Amino acid sequence: MKTIDLRSDTVTLPTPAMKEAISNAELGDDVFGEDPTTIRLEKMAAERMGKEAAMLVVSGTMGNLVCILTHCKRAEEVILGDRSHTFLYEAGGISAVGGIHPHTITNQPDGTMRLEEIEAAIRGDNVHFPRTRLICLENTHNRCSGAALTLEYMKAVAELANDRDIMVHLDGARIFNAAVALQVDVTELTGYADSVSFCLSKGLSAPVGSVICGSKEFITEARRNRKILGGGMRQCGIIAAAGITALDEMVDRIADDHANAQRLAQGIARIPGLSIEQERVQTNIVYFDMVSRQIKAEELVSQLDNKGIKILLLGPSRFRAVTHYGINSEDIDLTLTTLGEIM
Ligand SMILES: *Cc1c(COP(=O)(O)O)cnc(C)c1O
Repeated sequence: MKTIDLRSDTVTLPTPAMKEAISNAELGDDVFGEDPTTIRLEKMAAERMGKEAAMLVVSGTMGNLVCILTHCKRAEEVILGDRSHTFLYEAGGISAVGGIHPHTITNQPDGTMRLEEIEAAIRGDNVHFPRTRLICLENTHNRCSGAALTLEYMKAVAELANDRDIMVHLDGARIFNAAVALQVDVTELTGYADSVSFCLSKGLSAPVGSVICGSKEFITEARRNRKILGGGMRQCGIIAAAGITALDEMVDRIADDHANAQRLAQGIARIPGLSIEQERVQTNIVYFDMVSRQIKAEELVSQLDNKGIKILLLGPSRFRAVTHYGINSEDIDLTLTTLGEIM
C-alpha cells in the first residue's frame, strides 16, 4: 500500500534526475570557494531571484538566521509576524544566537501585517529603545493558509521600510508557490526585499538545503555568519547538484500541487463534520477543522494513519494537509473517500 503523506512538502524525496545529478556532481572544497557545483547553484539562484549573489545553507531555519544576523547587530530589533515561521518555529535562534529583539505584530488571516501597525512598531530615537533594523515578511505564509502576499502589499512594505531606512528580509521558503499562485515572475516579488531565503527541500523536492540571496556585500558578510554557525560545508556540491535539478525541473510542476490542493479543499467542504475556509486555499497548503462532536480530531488522524494517509494535527481541532511532488489527483480522491468514510 502506498503511503499518502500529506503532513508536509518536506517529506518529498529526491527525483531520479536528482540522484543522477548527485552521483555525477563535480566537487571541491566549498569553504575554500572551490566547489564548482555549489558555485553554479549559487549563480543560478541569484539570477532566478534577481539578486547579485547567493549562498547555499543547510536549512530554511539557517537561511533566515544567517540573513537576520547579517542585517542586525545585538540589541537591534526585527519586526515580524506573530504567526511567522521565524517567530514560531526557529527555536528562538535570533535571540539565542544574535541577541536580536523580536517585535511581533499580528498576522492577519491573509499573512499580512497591517501597514499602520508596522509603522507604529518602528522605534524612535530614544536611549530606552532597541533600534529597529529589519522587517521580515513570509511568502507564502505557512501558518496563514499558505497565503501568497501580493505584489502591491510587498511594494507597500518595501516603500515604508525604505522611507525609514529599514531593511526587508523575505522568508521565501515557498516563494515559487507564491509566484505560481500570483502568476508573476519570482523576481517581481523578491525585488521588494533586500534579502531572500528559499527552500530547495520543500515543493522543489531536493533532499537538503536552502539558498539565501542578496547583494554581493550582503552575501560576503553572510558567509562569515554561516561559518560562525558551523554551516561551512566542504563538498556540498552533493547537495547543490540536486538543487540545480530542482530549479531546472521542479518549479513549473508546482501548479499541479495547487490544483490538487483545490481538489482536496473542495472535497473537504462537502464532508459533514469538517469545516474549511475554502477561499483561503491559494497554494499547496490546506487547513481544515473538526466541527463534529462525534469524533475527536486525534481519532481522525489515527484512523487515517491506519489507512496509510498522514495529515498533521495542529491545535485541538485543526488539521493541515500539504500537497507536493509524489501526490497525484487519485491520491487526493482516495484521501477524500477515506475521510468521508471515517466521518
Ligand atoms: C519550512 C520553513 C522554514 C524553515 O525551513 P527548514 O528547512 O525546515 O529549516 C522557514 N520558513 C517557512 C515559512 C517555512 O515553511
